[in-house]
Amino acid sequence: MFMTDTMSPPTTGGNLNVRPPHPPTSNVVDGDRVADLVSQLLVELGENPDREGLAGTPGRVANWWRSFLSPDPATAPICFGENSVAGQLVVVGGMSVWSLCEHHMLPMNLDVVAGYTPLGEVVGLSKFGRIAQRHAGRLQVQERFTRHVADEIVAVVGSPDVAVVVRGTHLCMSMRGVRMEAARTTTLEASGRFETDQLLSQQFLTLATTAWRNS
Ligand SMILES: [Zn+2]
Repeated sequence: MFMTDTMSPPTTGGNLNVRPPHPPTSNVVDGDRVADLVSQLLVELGENPDREGLAGTPGRVANWWRSFLSPDPATAPICFGENSVAGQLVVVGGMSVWSLCEHHMLPMNLDVVAGYTPLGEVVGLSKFGRIAQRHAGRLQVQERFTRHVADEIVAVVGSPDVAVVVRGTHLCMSMRGVRMEAARTTTLEASGRFETDQLLSQQFLTLATTAWRNS
C-alpha cells in the first residue's frame, strides 16, 4: 500500500485568534450558464449533447454543482454543560465526506476523526459532521481541509485542545496518473495539549486510526 503521511507544522496553541477566519466560497451558481458550458464541453469532447442519452445531462450536472457548493449554512453549536467530564478525551470518528480535489476536479473521499478535551461543556456530536461536510463542499486540497476543520472546531469548543486526522482516498491518484488504487493520504492537525502532551496525542491517534487499520 502506498502511504503519504504528512504532519502539519506546529500551530500556535493557546491563542484562538491566530489565524484569520476562512471566508465561505460563493455558492451562487447560475444553473443555466453552467448547463450551457457543460453542453459546450460535451461538444469539445466529441459528443453530441442533443443525442438521447445526453439530453438532460447538462442540466443534471448544473444541479449537482449547485447542491455540492451549497452545504448547510453554519449554525450555532449546541453545547451541554457537563463539568464532570472536563479534561476527558472525546473522539468523534466515522465522518466520511466527499469533496473535489482542486487540482483535477476529481472526487476525494475524506474520512475524518476529530478529538478534543472539553473544558466543562460538551458539543453536540452532530456538529462535527456538519463542520466536515461544509468544508468539503468546495474545491479543496486535503491539507487545507484538515486545517480548516480543526480551526472551526477550536472556535466551536472554545479551546485550543483539538486534533483532527483525515484519511483521504483521491480519485486523481486512483484513476489517473500513477493509478494506485490503494493509495491513502493521511493528514494531522493538532493544537493546544495535543501538541504538548505526548500521551494524549498518542491516545487520540490510537483511537482514531484503529478502525482504519482493519479496513
Ligand atoms: Zn488531484
